[in-house]
Amino acid sequence: MFKCSVCEKVFTVKCNMLRHRKSHEQMKFQCIHCNRDFTRRSNLSVHMQKKYGFVKHSNDYNLAMGIVVEQQ
Ligand SMILES: [Zn+2]
Ligand SMILES: [Zn+2]
Repeated sequence: MFKCSVCEKVFTVKCNMLRHRKSHEQMKFQCIHCNRDFTRRSNLSVHMQKKYGFVKHSNDYNLAMGIVVEQQ
């Protein structure tokens, strides 16, 4: 088993993991409030909650995280 060091997703084939791992390199998560960049989504999530007191999965949090909540 090969685990992605960024998101901890597990792959059975090494080259699949490496290809997936590469896709993280272009990834950037930016705080819409202070424009700080984060390489991991989870880091931005923690920043949002600690610095701004956002409640996880609240509307403000989703908006800040760029999560599009589908309208039913
Ligand atoms: Zn990953
Ligand atoms: Zn910020």
